[in-house]
Amino acid sequence: MSIVVMKFGGTSVADAEKIRAAARRAIRARKAGKQVVMVISAMGKTTDRLIELAHQVSDNPPKREMDQLLATGEQVTISLMAMALEKMGVPAISFTAGQVGLVTDDVHTKARIKHINVERIRRELDAGKVVIVAGFQGVTEDGTVTTLGRGGSNVTLVAIAASLGAECENYTDVDGVYTADPRIVPNARKIGRISYDEMLELSSLGASVLHNRAVEFAKKYNVPIHVRGSGSNRKGTLIVAETQDMERIVVSGAALKTDLAVITLRNVPDRPGLAARIFHTLAAAKIVVDDIIQTEITPKLATVSFTVDLVDLPDARKVCQQLCSKTRGMTAEFEQDLAKVSVAGVGMRVHTGVAERMFAALARAGINIRNITTSEIAISCIIAQEDGPKALRVVHDAFGLGRKRARSTKSTRKKTAKRRNTAKTTKVTKRARKS
Ligand code: ASP
Ligand code: MG
Repeated sequence: MSIVVMKFGGTSVADAEKIRAAARRAIRARKAGKQVVMVISAMGKTTDRLIELAHQVSDNPPKREMDQLLATGEQVTISLMAMALEKMGVPAISFTAGQVGLVTDDVHTKARIKHINVERIRRELDAGKVVIVAGFQGVTEDGTVTTLGRGGSNVTLVAIAASLGAECENYTDVDGVYTADPRIVPNARKIGRISYDEMLELSSLGASVLHNRAVEFAKKYNVPIHVRGSGSNRKGTLIVAETQDMERIVVSGAALKTDLAVITLRNVPDRPGLAARIFHTLAAAKIVVDDIIQTEITPKLATVSFTVDLVDLPDARKVCQQLCSKTRGMTAEFEQDLAKVSVAGVGMRVHTGVAERMFAALARAGINIRNITTSEIAISCIIAQEDGPKALRVVHDAFGLGRKRARSTKSTRKKTAKRRNTAKTTKVTKRARKS
């Protein structure tokens, strides 16, 4: 019998009615002949509320106790789900992470899964039950409660599906992955299939659909994830291993990341070890940097710029000013109110002209590009924050994402040529007939 693991996020189990709806969905899968495991998040904003509560009693709560507290959110939902199923006449049993042997390391608040013992889950499935597992939590080898980081139920989902060799369905409040955020781009289209790498790029470039760690995990164990809406029966988006035909599509999606700041260090002495020192100091202050660009200005001096999230700017400013005070001539500039618009697609590896098409679209809209960075399958432009939504729309349009997918220029050219040839032949034939 095949097994399906269905994960329901916080908004999909936010109240009793939604819990019952999720239970009904599990029952439908069961009626279709599948064994069902459910991975559940805490109800609605429960986790946020618990965090707030913790901060009311301590401005610096110990991380171990934080995990102990936050794990209670999921424990509430799993037992309610089991009750809902039993009430509908379907045998069900709920488990905390400790009870199913989901063992992690001891890095509290962002623990990593080491192994899962799925024997208990299998036994209950074979006994005909729906098995409900608390998402987001784990236990260390010695039984201390841990959590996997915000949004971590997705990681639980993929880990359990991988261990069981099961199908993996992620039910959320959006019905799939879109070519761009539909709140900003009204003609955005739901993507049918997207590769793990494209999904990873798009989420780190600002599209918040799935926890990146969950996608990384899925890629590592090759577990396709079906992202779908809990409110409908329609197919959602399959996140899968890359296939050759995916390269025909130049760009799969566009994303916008807002609230960024750019830091520019000037007169950086161009000698070995200095870049290492700058970024070591920033990393030690737990500042995540992105889009690093170094330009040699003279043989002895360089300019180094990079982006940070706006929330990290105050700390980054301190670190950079300290670095400047220790390095003769080096200065730091800070700019905020910036955003990043990006396109991603595995087709970029084989198609040319992608960057040009993106820059031209921004130029036509009168949007100035502040910085450009690229990866193998993505291109990003830093722009003014106020231009963000418009930039996303014009870039999305430039690649025809809202309508039919953008095809390779080469094959389009071939097709048009073919059509033209056919047209010519027809004309000639007609003329020939006339004469
Ligand atoms: N309840 C946790 C959170 O809100 C985990 C999750 O939802 O995946 O972050
Ligand atoms: Mg949540």
